Amino acid sequence: EPTGITELLLSRIRDVADYPEPGVVFKDITPLLADPGAFAALTDALAEAAGRTGATKVVGLEARGFILGAPVALRAGLGFIPVRKAGKLPGATLSQAYDLEYGSAEIEVHAEDLTAGDRVLVVDDVLATGGTAEASLELIRRAGAEVAGLAVLMELGFLGGRARLEPALAGAPLEAL
Ligand code: AMP
Repeated sequence: EPTGITELLLSRIRDVADYPEPGVVFKDITPLLADPGAFAALTDALAEAAGRTGATKVVGLEARGFILGAPVALRAGLGFIPVRKAGKLPGATLSQAYDLEYGSAEIEVHAEDLTAGDRVLVVDDVLATGGTAEASLELIRRAGAEVAGLAVLMELGFLGGRARLEPALAGAPLEAL
């Protein structure tokens, strides 16, 4: 049985080779979500990170950032704001396009959910190239809010996301468990 939290979390993440395409190792967190002890330990650790940043709101990135971000927001006593793929939010939105390896994507937030004076922590499961997180930080700033930080379960260091995010984070912490 695993001893520390890192070992516990790592033991509940499944590496799936060549998914969704050849050459990619997909980090599947469904075994972690199915284990209430591991899920609670993860939620607590991310909520502590939220506390350290002085965040006033938690943004979750669709879709696994919803699963992790919502309990973190509740645990930390903060509101939860979904950042969704384009076309899913019914109200007035701010959108941000970003480049993918092939093509581009767009994310959105309800404009009224973020305002000046908010300090926002972004939560997601995996930081890979950092493109998605970078677009979300851009959205937060364009909404007039402040970036409190980015907290993820896992950072794929070899993809260089941390370096890419340095300008967008502008000194705010990136916490990877
Ligand atoms: P990126 O924009 O490249 O940092 O990709 C981050 C988004 O894609 C996150 O929302 C992750 O959930 C997902 N993602 C990227 N690479 C992986 C991977 N190897 N395993 C699981 N999820 C991934």
